Amino acid sequence: MRVLPSWICTAVCLVGLALGCSRGEGPPPAASSGPARDGVWAVLPGRAEVVARADQWAVRGASLKGADGAAWLERAGDLRERIWRLEGRQPDALEAVELLRDAGAREWPGACRMKLRRALLDAEIRHEPERAYRELYPLRQHPDRACGRKVSLALDLLGAYQPSPAVLAELDAKGAAPPTVASAGNAVPSASQPPSQVVLPQQAVAERAQITRIERYGAKESARIVVFMTHPVLFKVGVLEAEPQRGPRIYLDVQGASYSGPANYDVGGLVERVRLGEQGRGTRLVLDLKQPVFHRIFYLPEPFRLIVDVSLSPPSEAPPAGRRSIQRVVLDPGHGGHDPGAVGPSGLREKDVTLDIAHRAAPLLARELGISTLLTRDTDDFVALPERTARANAFQADLFISIHCNASEHAESTGIMTFILDESRDALAAQIAARENAASQAAAAELANVMSRVLGVGSVSESLRFAELLQRAAMASVRGRYPEVRDQGVKRAGFYVLAGAQMPSVLYEASFISNPRAEVRLNTGDFRQKMADAIVNAVRAYREGL
Ligand SMILES: [Zn+2]
Repeated sequence: MRVLPSWICTAVCLVGLALGCSRGEGPPPAASSGPARDGVWAVLPGRAEVVARADQWAVRGASLKGADGAAWLERAGDLRERIWRLEGRQPDALEAVELLRDAGAREWPGACRMKLRRALLDAEIRHEPERAYRELYPLRQHPDRACGRKVSLALDLLGAYQPSPAVLAELDAKGAAPPTVASAGNAVPSASQPPSQVVLPQQAVAERAQITRIERYGAKESARIVVFMTHPVLFKVGVLEAEPQRGPRIYLDVQGASYSGPANYDVGGLVERVRLGEQGRGTRLVLDLKQPVFHRIFYLPEPFRLIVDVSLSPPSEAPPAGRRSIQRVVLDPGHGGHDPGAVGPSGLREKDVTLDIAHRAAPLLARELGISTLLTRDTDDFVALPERTARANAFQADLFISIHCNASEHAESTGIMTFILDESRDALAAQIAARENAASQAAAAELANVMSRVLGVGSVSESLRFAELLQRAAMASVRGRYPEVRDQGVKRAGFYVLAGAQMPSVLYEASFISNPRAEVRLNTGDFRQKMADAIVNAVRAYREGL
């Protein structure tokens, strides 16, 4: 379910496609190719190189007159826009807007097109579609007829944001003069002085959002604060050093969001308390800390929420080759309490199967491998998805294994599969992700985008490695007694439960509970024990460096 209508996609991207603007034109000339980060951007080199190249082209553009210079400015703007779309750093977008503005100010055949692109990009980063409409409206009668038609198409697509006839008449009277007043609610910091990290959700930002709930999970060595909102918002993050009588603080300015709950929450552990108060037209959250910490902020859609993770240890890096140090493992039995998970044709509940498999695996991990385990739930209780990874992070786990049973509307679907968090690669994976995520109404497709930024490359490849070992161990475990069980392999999907885990993490689908024969198997201690054995064997192999 998608509840965030994104005007960016419905309007700007459509316009962009119709115009054939920057994306899809391939790499600019002379850009060397960098390491492939994903399919779309495989040709883009690393950020430092991109920025250096863009600066070089911008200087060249400024030094050349007329169309020659303008074309270089446009190329530099292209690069900045692309790296912004990839990494989301706002100064890049602002720089792109400026470069396009300079290119549009020249007298050359591309001037109208530059104005069009600049207006769309500027409105996109400000989240102000009305602004785009107002700026483009006078351009529709541009002497460059082809460009004028594209502007008209853009206006059609932005039709929902058309101002009143009186305003339009005024715009016509003023000619092409751009509006001068920016709306204060969506102020964008200037490129030259970013005060702190600004993270810009890709979705449309509402005029006013409300903070509806604050969740806290505190522990001695890490903590997580989740801020729930009614709409996507812009936010800024900063750190205030310790002062005499006062520990360090992290603040989070949530722009344009109001809040009417308690002003203080005790957290415990690493974060003493969270305080909330008005700040300009928004709300500031302050985390009072016991000591300096590493922090990481990210957001998740549906419902929109900001997540602040703090911890004493830096974000994990890929471990060295060879034997891995695995001391703590988190087992996450899926579902629980009022959420039964999938239910088999004769009534077997996923939540009971997953808990039993975890209960079988945990003592074996301790006894055979000397590994400490933590279960995200030890009883038939409901545990919210964000709390599951928060508990794993607090435990400083080396591995996170979420245990589930699959379900499909096709009763014949069968087999075991293991997932890692990634973009959905096939329809089946997306379908399963949607179902497993239902407890938090998270949208699998949108998560993929967010998560690729949140998780480091090292963590993804380690997750993939462990997923392969687990899948192989599971098939080895069942082959003798249950040769009919199919190997569905390792897949990638946008699982909410894996989001935010600071360690390699997998989701293990131990058969389709919806398949009558598999349900019978899942109802036996023997099969569940084989699933648990597979976990233990996979952890052993992973620790050995396989
Ligand atoms: Zn499940």
